[in-house]
Amino acid sequence: MDKRFPIEDQIEMLGSMIRGSVIAPHHPDYDAVRMVALAQFDRRPAAIVRVANAADIAAVLNFAQATDLPVAIRSGGHSTSGFSCADGALVIDVRDLNRIDIDVEARTAWAGAGMTAGEVTNAVEQHGLIVGFGDSATVGIAGLTLGGGIGYLVRKHGLTIDSLLAVEIVTASGDILIADETEHADLFWALRGGGGNFGVVTRFKYRLHPLPSFTGGPLVLPPTPEVVAGFAALADAAPNELSTIAMIMPIPPVPTVPVEAHGKLAFIAMMAYAGDPAAAQQVLAPFRALATPLADMIGTAPYSSLYMLDPPPGIRPMVAIRSRFTERFGIEEARALVAAAQNCTAPMSMSQIRVLGGAHTDVAPDATAFGHRRSRFMVSFLAMYGGGPEVIDAQERWVSESLASVVPGTAGTYVNFLGAGDANDGIAAAYPAATLQRLRQVKHRYDPENLFRHNTNVSPAV
Ligand SMILES: Cc1cc2nc3c(=O)[nH]c(=O)nc-3n(C[C@H](O)[C@H](O)[C@H](O)COP(=O)(O)OP(=O)(O)OC[C@H]3O[C@@H](n4cnc5c(N)ncnc54)[C@H](O)[C@@H]3O)c2cc1C
Repeated sequence: MDKRFPIEDQIEMLGSMIRGSVIAPHHPDYDAVRMVALAQFDRRPAAIVRVANAADIAAVLNFAQATDLPVAIRSGGHSTSGFSCADGALVIDVRDLNRIDIDVEARTAWAGAGMTAGEVTNAVEQHGLIVGFGDSATVGIAGLTLGGGIGYLVRKHGLTIDSLLAVEIVTASGDILIADETEHADLFWALRGGGGNFGVVTRFKYRLHPLPSFTGGPLVLPPTPEVVAGFAALADAAPNELSTIAMIMPIPPVPTVPVEAHGKLAFIAMMAYAGDPAAAQQVLAPFRALATPLADMIGTAPYSSLYMLDPPPGIRPMVAIRSRFTERFGIEEARALVAAAQNCTAPMSMSQIRVLGGAHTDVAPDATAFGHRRSRFMVSFLAMYGGGPEVIDAQERWVSESLASVVPGTAGTYVNFLGAGDANDGIAAAYPAATLQRLRQVKHRYDPENLFRHNTNVSPAV
């Protein structure tokens, strides 16, 4: 780059060096393209580069290092810590890397890092195959996979990273590598939980699982401590075919629930049974018997029908979120969860419990950079709201205090559910000490200058 030119002109010139496009502040699409899923993150980058291939990414990384511009990486734009975009940065936007190649016979797929969970699910589901992501269709596979990926198949097939076979990545030096169990195995280990610290991923290779039949949907129960604790105990003892994500939340205005119940708190349990439909009914029966359901919408359905908790299109809420892993979830914890849910002032909130175990726990804690394998439960609080800074503070406080009331102390946390304020302090909770130490060594090997630092940052080992 010719440093005699102002940086704005150099950025424009970058556009002529790549196949993708450079969207700088004067571009008519700038505001639309810099927008991310969570409304509280309103950042103004120096430019967003919509890359078309790995060579583009290498060129942008080279440019960023020559100009000292900071780099941010964006895929689905759902970072809860606000890392999808950054003031003054060059944002490497991978959304156009959205090609998927499915090998039905081998049951594998290479999916572009710009795809969303919903897009990949829809593509593989047509072949009776599945790979588990999270509870939201619009979340990007890239951010989700690199942090671990906890969803509706966690007990049957583990985390998303447990179905990850290989990753194509462009490193800080511009090298385009394939990392898997044999090639760059240290990098592959780090990419399974270590986030966007090691380079820009262009595509992921997943193992796909057969899913001949699926039974799932919401079971809506009264939000009492007894129901919540009873639910957790049943889900913990259930066969691995059943995974659940359950939360106390206000009932959305859906026609299947009586109008008078809309907006009132309920315990909404998303049930996901990946197996024989008759066996599903047997496994689900004790959950239905916990109390008279307010609604029971469980049925045989495509797996993708579970993606129903996303905000309606066009709605961009502010979101406060935090989580903790725990070994224990009994009646005391259930009481605290119910009390916290009743205390929330946000128009929409989720006081959530994910029962882990199963295939998630079968993987050794040091086998991947996601180290919280022995945890049986994950408790999370999420508030969706609108308003100014005083509202942000109040909701952040509700989330933190609620979490501490259910899981006191300093338990481990899920890196993908860190909030804006704690992304860097939270790193010690996100990774066990030995995992973090190993991540730092891999970081030193692949990104010694910490070019990729706009993330839950792993500092390179000295
Ligand atoms: C509504 C909602 C629901 C959610 N539900 C779940 C859930 O059920 N289960 C779960 O596990 N998580 C869930 N999450 C958390 C989600 O996994 C993380 O927020 C994730 O980081 C989002 O990924 P993204 O690609 O959409 O976000 P982005 O903001 O685009 O990316 C987040 C970060 O990931 C890294 N990154 C992204 N793309 C790349 C790339 N190509 N190469 C290298 N690094 C990259 C970067 O550091 C980037 O800052 C949810 C989040 C939200 C907002």
